[in-house]
Amino acid sequence: MSANIIDGKAIAKDIHTEVRAEAEQFEKDNGYKPGLATVLVGEDPASQSYVKAKVKACEEDGLMGIKHVLPESASQEEVMALVTSLAEDPSIHGILVKLPLPGHIDEKTVLDAVPLSKDVDGFHPANLGRIGIKGEEADFVACTPAGVIELLKRSDVQIEGANAVVIGRSKIVGLPVALLLLNENATVTICHSRTKDLGAVTREADILVPAIGKANLVTEDMVKEGAVIIDVGVNRVDDATRKRGYRLAGDCDFEGVSKRARAITPVPGGVGPMTIAMLMKNTLRAAKRQLEG
Ligand code: NAD
Repeated sequence: MSANIIDGKAIAKDIHTEVRAEAEQFEKDNGYKPGLATVLVGEDPASQSYVKAKVKACEEDGLMGIKHVLPESASQEEVMALVTSLAEDPSIHGILVKLPLPGHIDEKTVLDAVPLSKDVDGFHPANLGRIGIKGEEADFVACTPAGVIELLKRSDVQIEGANAVVIGRSKIVGLPVALLLLNENATVTICHSRTKDLGAVTREADILVPAIGKANLVTEDMVKEGAVIIDVGVNRVDDATRKRGYRLAGDCDFEGVSKRARAITPVPGGVGPMTIAMLMKNTLRAAKRQLEG
């Protein structure tokens, strides 16, 4: 078997098109655009391009994206003053604080200053907790986990009743993905670095979601014939043939697992584009909810 490719770029493009149509209507109705503020502390080039990509997506989707950059040396008070002013600014509907913050900044205090109504990243403990409680609705679901579910749904993958295995239990990916899959009525197992026989668990997975950060950790022998794999991992692998000296790869040995899987997301071009698309969706949702009061 050679796996079908789940094209995250194409699916994300569809979502951007939907967001753009809704954002244009929103602006027509209300006279302003949904606004996203990004906060970056420091000049790390990777973080700069991360933030730049989000602001560019805002422009393309008819949202207002505003970039705030503070120097690496900014004090806790300075960061808090910025986040608090954005929290109070009615033209800003979503706030994205680029993590990690420099070591001298208390991350939790800063994130707590982002009001729930503007938590478009979905990292607030209340939003995470609500995903896990039946009958509750999170204001915002974290973008990457939401993107994983959207990829499955838009690829017509049956989630209900499936054995889903998530590798990784971080609060930004693994845990929320597992909770969302549970909400969709999958039978969910979470694996992590202390899992004893990872392959024995993953071989039972109809849906496998590696979110680890280790290239080639998931090999062909760990995958059930016909499984669907959503590879969240993003890893740099040395590659002398590339100008920059490396290429990006997921957590799976892509070629190997593709022989057994029914469908798989590539890296890059799988989950990554979905994260930005879901952030645009969350920002639009934030603007609409704030309008409703
Ligand atoms: P993390 O380091 O917080 O968590 C990694 C998880 O993997 C941990 O729960 C750990 O227990 C587990 N793990 C580590 N080694 C393991 C092993 N040998 N066997 C089983 N489990 C193991 O990382 P994270 O922030 O959750 O991100 C995970 C990956 O997803 C990273 O590669 C990251 O770059 C990627 N990511 C991608 C996107 C995207 O938009 N595509 C967004 C967020 C994160």
